[in-house]
Amino acid sequence: MIKITLPDGTIKEHATGSSPMDVAKGISEGLARNVISAKYNDTIVETVTPLNEDGTLTLYTWNDKEGKKAFWHSTSHVVAQALEELYPGIKLTIGPAIDNGFYYDVDFGDRSISEKDFPEIEKKALEIARGKHDYKMRSVTKEEALASYKKQGNEYKVELIENLEDGTITFCDHDTFTDLCRGGHIPNTGIIKAIKILSVAGAYWRGNENNKQLTRVYGISFPKQKELTEYLELLEQAKQRDHRKLGKELELFTFSAKVGQGLPLWLPKGAALRERLENFLKKAQKKAGYEMVVTPHIGQKELYVTSGHYAKYGEDSFQPIKTPKADEEFLLKPMNCPHHCEIYNTKPFSYRELPKRYAEFGTVYRYEQSGELHGLTRVRGFTQDDAHIFCTPDQLAEEFKNVIDLTLYVLGSLGFGNFTAQVSVRDLNTPEKYIGSVENWEKAENAIIDAAKDKGLDFVIESGEAAFYGPKLDFMVKDALGRNWQLGTIQVDYNLPERFDLTYKGSDNELHRPVMIHRAPFGSMERFIALLLEHTGGNFPLWLIPEQAIVLPISEKHEKYAQKVLNSLENHEIRALVDKRSETVGKKIREAEMNKIPFMLIVGDNEEQENTISVRRHGGEDLGSISLTDFANLVTNEINSTLKSF
Ligand SMILES: [Zn+2]
Ligand SMILES: [Zn+2]
Repeated sequence: MIKITLPDGTIKEHATGSSPMDVAKGISEGLARNVISAKYNDTIVETVTPLNEDGTLTLYTWNDKEGKKAFWHSTSHVVAQALEELYPGIKLTIGPAIDNGFYYDVDFGDRSISEKDFPEIEKKALEIARGKHDYKMRSVTKEEALASYKKQGNEYKVELIENLEDGTITFCDHDTFTDLCRGGHIPNTGIIKAIKILSVAGAYWRGNENNKQLTRVYGISFPKQKELTEYLELLEQAKQRDHRKLGKELELFTFSAKVGQGLPLWLPKGAALRERLENFLKKAQKKAGYEMVVTPHIGQKELYVTSGHYAKYGEDSFQPIKTPKADEEFLLKPMNCPHHCEIYNTKPFSYRELPKRYAEFGTVYRYEQSGELHGLTRVRGFTQDDAHIFCTPDQLAEEFKNVIDLTLYVLGSLGFGNFTAQVSVRDLNTPEKYIGSVENWEKAENAIIDAAKDKGLDFVIESGEAAFYGPKLDFMVKDALGRNWQLGTIQVDYNLPERFDLTYKGSDNELHRPVMIHRAPFGSMERFIALLLEHTGGNFPLWLIPEQAIVLPISEKHEKYAQKVLNSLENHEIRALVDKRSETVGKKIREAEMNKIPFMLIVGDNEEQENTISVRRHGGEDLGSISLTDFANLVTNEINSTLKSF
C-alpha cells in the first residue's frame, strides 16, 4: 500500500501502482468524470500513471489552469495528426499549450496553408477526437527514437532527441499517431468536443532568425461547443478593443518603418494624454514624499557592468555606442536604477534623512526580436513611471504600505477595481541562491505580507519566485474582458546598494547599507496606455480623455455662438472643439460617437436665444438644454467622483 496526501491534507491509502484516476474514483465518481490531469510530487503525470511510492497528489479538472494546459496540449497531438493526414510529408516539430490554446510548429515544405484550409483541418481533427482514443505514454531508447524520426526524414525531431538523455525519452501514442512527448495528457481524445484553428504565422525553428521559417498553427479547444462560441465572441470583442486599432482611430500613437520597429511615435492627442497621466502620478507622488530627478538616456558601459545589467542585457540587447575615443563605450539605458543609485551617492545621509524617494519618468531601451514586438505592449523603447526608495531596514514595512496605498489609488482612479497580487518569496531549501542576510530577508518578506494583509489585498504567496536580490509584490489586474494583465511591481533589493556601495550613518554612528525598493505602478506608460485602451475600449475616464466635449452647430449661422460656447468651455478648463463642417448634425453626432467624445453639445436657434446648450452623452443619453455653468459643474462633479485626491 502507498499513502497519498491530497492538497487539503487528507491521506488516502491505495494499492501500490494505483493511478491518479483510481484515487479520483475512490473520492467520487463525479470527480473521476471530471479529472483530466494530475500532478504527483511536483511532476505532471498522466491520469493513468501508476503511483509506486508515498506522495502528494493534485487532481486537475478543466477549471484548473493545469487542466486546461493538459487539454490544449493533448489537442495539439490531434491537430498534428489531422495535419499529417491532410498534408502527407509535412514535418512536425513542437506543439505546446499556451495561455489560450496551443500551437504546433510545422514545416509544410513547399506547401502553405491559410484561413480557407482551417475548416477542413478542424473537421478532420474533430473526427479523430470523436474516436475516443486513449493517450498512451511509452519509453523508448535514444537509438529507437532517432531511428524512428530519421526514417521519416524529420531533422527537427532528430535534433530535439539528440539533445535528450537516453533513458528519459518518451513517445505518446493515440490512434495511429505517435509523437515525441514528455507527457501531461488528458485521458482520451473523446473529451475534446470543439476545436478551432485560430491563425497561422511564421516562426523560426527554435526562435532563431538564422534557422528555417516554419508555420505556426494556432488553435484552441473546449470540452463543450458552447464554450468555444463564448470564447470566439470574446475574441471578437477583444479585436474591437485592440489598442493598435483604437490607437490609430483615436490618433494617439503611430509607428514608422523609417524610425524603426518597436519605437512608438506619440501623436499630439496621445502625447497630451500621456502628460495628463504623468501629471496625475507626479501630483500623488509629491504628496507621498517623492522627489523628481532626471537622468540621461545613455550611460557608460562600466555603470551597467557595476550594476549587473550588462550581464543581463548586454549581449542580447542594443550594442554599446562608440565615441571617437577608442576606449570609451556607452550603452542605451536598459534600467534607471543605476543612475538613481549614483544620485543617492552624491552626498552622505544619516538615518534621520531617510527614506529618500527618487522618481523619474525614465525612458529605457531594450532590444526585442521583431517577431516579439506587439503594438505598445512589446516595444524597444519605453518610459517607466519609475522610482527608487532608499530606506533603513526598519523603515521597509512602512514604506511598503505607502507604496501599496499609492498603487491602489492610481489603479482605482483609472477604473481598475478587480486586481490580485502575488508576493514572491525565497525558496527556503536553497538559501545559497539569495544575496543579503537571512535576517533582512525575513524582515522584508514579513513586511510585504503584513502590508498586503493590512491593505486588504487579495494575494497569493509564491515561494521560490523571488529574484536573487529580494522579494517582491506584483499587481495583476483583470480587464473588462476578464483577461489578466501583469502590472507594476514593488521590488525589494539588497543587491544594488551593495554593488554601488550605498551607505547611511545609523544612530550608532556607524555606516550601514540602505535597502532599495524599485516600484512602478503603471509598469511603463506605453504598456499601461495599451491596457487602458483595451479595458475602456477607448472610453477613457473623463479627466483623462483627449476631448471631453464637442460643440455641434446645427447650421453655419450658429457657428459664432458655437465659438462663444467653446471659449466659455476653455475658461472652465474643459477640453473641447467645434465641428464646423457643413455636414448634418446627425452625421456629426455619429462621428463624435465613433471618436468616443463623452459630451456632444448641440447649438441652434433655441440654444442661442436662451444662452444654453443641448447636451447629449456618448451612448445616446439626452440631458436636455442646460446652461454652460450647469454643464461645467456636471463635468467637474463627474471628474471629482472618479479622481479623488491622494
Ligand atoms: Zn504530448
Ligand atoms: Zn529599478
